[in-house]
Amino acid sequence: MLTETNRIPSSDLLNLYHAQKAFFQEGHTRSYAFRLAQIKKLNDLVNKHQQNLMDALQKDLEKHAYEGLITELGPFFSEVKDTLKHLRSWMQPESVTTSLFNTPGSSEIIREPYGNVLVIAPWNYPFLLSFSPLLGAMAAGNCVILKPSEHAPHSAAAMAAIINQHFDPSYIHVIEGGVEETQALLNTRWDYIFFTGGTAIGKIIYKAAAEHLTPVTLELGGKSPCVVHKDANLKLAAKRIAWGKWINSGQTCLAPDYLFVQADIKQKFIQYLSDAIHAYYGADPIKSPDYGKIINYRHYERLKSYLSQGRITTGGKCDDRLMRIEPTIMEQVSADSPVMQEEIFGPILPIYTYDKIDEVYAFINKREKPLASYLFSASSAVQKQFLAEISSGGVSINDTVMHITSSQMPFGGVGQSGIGGYHGKYSFDTFSHKKSVLRRGIQPLDTIFRFPPYNMKLLKMMKELLKRFL
Ligand code: NAD
Repeated sequence: MLTETNRIPSSDLLNLYHAQKAFFQEGHTRSYAFRLAQIKKLNDLVNKHQQNLMDALQKDLEKHAYEGLITELGPFFSEVKDTLKHLRSWMQPESVTTSLFNTPGSSEIIREPYGNVLVIAPWNYPFLLSFSPLLGAMAAGNCVILKPSEHAPHSAAAMAAIINQHFDPSYIHVIEGGVEETQALLNTRWDYIFFTGGTAIGKIIYKAAAEHLTPVTLELGGKSPCVVHKDANLKLAAKRIAWGKWINSGQTCLAPDYLFVQADIKQKFIQYLSDAIHAYYGADPIKSPDYGKIINYRHYERLKSYLSQGRITTGGKCDDRLMRIEPTIMEQVSADSPVMQEEIFGPILPIYTYDKIDEVYAFINKREKPLASYLFSASSAVQKQFLAEISSGGVSINDTVMHITSSQMPFGGVGQSGIGGYHGKYSFDTFSHKKSVLRRGIQPLDTIFRFPPYNMKLLKMMKELLKRFL
């Protein structure tokens, strides 16, 4: 955990940075064998330290070990498995067609590591959102400095113990710290920065990266809408929405932020949602061991202040000592109130109703593009229209959150909810520069069209050629 004694002085930070630069330049991370061995080692260490990590998640967020397993360690193990299975083929040069003007010749795309990568992580899924990008960066052959969130200090310490005690610091290293340390890291020139966090800080990171033209991935947040059409399987919709909203006490970047329900099913649907809450967390959810706490007092107070911005239909109970807020449904919330202007990132769900779905599209499209959008409807026409009308980072239809679990699809935002995406092969690609290589023979077979001097006859022939082949 970060204390005055383990704060890393900036001179040490610079030494570490230069050591990583040299390590990369020396080419240690390039081979398949090295990457494979290091990823296996990381996997074994996480396996061995599972209990420490679970304990840390419990201390930081009161996350139940089961939830820790299915939302943090499990997805990491699954990504490792996928990476180990495919890494060799991901690393192969990709042959592509050679254009007519470059014949004879061959063309390929080589994925080369960027070099020195900085990963900055948030507190809400402190392990997964640190180790998943770390894994992608290692697979692509980079050196990495990982800066976990200071707001989940036990998880940060557990991750630092895994990495810093077992890996060469010239290869990968964890720096524990807050704003000051992150700013110091940002003053240095990186080959790639991968940031997960809020949009406001994302802009700070982007500006710092721009100083050096460093490419970035920004995994940000936003207000992810969820729409329930009356033709949906309502009980199932309620179960899936309640899970996606209240897992991790609503502190999930792509949790449904607010709900639109068709007016004639509202009462019934709120009842189903309330039933789902109690089925998951019992009669008094605030005391449930399966339901976590708010990360810190600042966020707890922020969330509490939202409770007066509408009429509470379900929940609303708070415990200042435990920093817990019951799963809460609110109605009659003004679209101008802070709860609807800011990302909620907590267990409060405002509900609106609509008669015609066009009203919903107008409401959503007046706002920034969200990280996720959700629709519950049995109609393929409504689904098709929803996908055409709403731009968001990703979508689950008839579910919430679950699209993030696929290693076959990139996970990321659009507009204010982020830049870039990752997971599976997309992680590998994110941390690789795609180098286009044209290979020509040494035989002097060049077209007559290429070199000066030019003349009108050539011009005419070229126009003909372009018409025919392009
Ligand atoms: P945050 O932006 O406050 O912090 C993220 C990281 O940035 C932390 O490591 C922190 O130390 C660092 N940081 C904070 N202030 C900084 C500054 N002034 N200069 C430099 N670095 C700074 O985010 P958070 O509170 O940890 O997480 C919550 C936000 O993250 C929410 O908006 C949520 O939607 C978003 N999020 C997005 C994803 C995603 O995958 N898209 C996942 C989880 C969380």
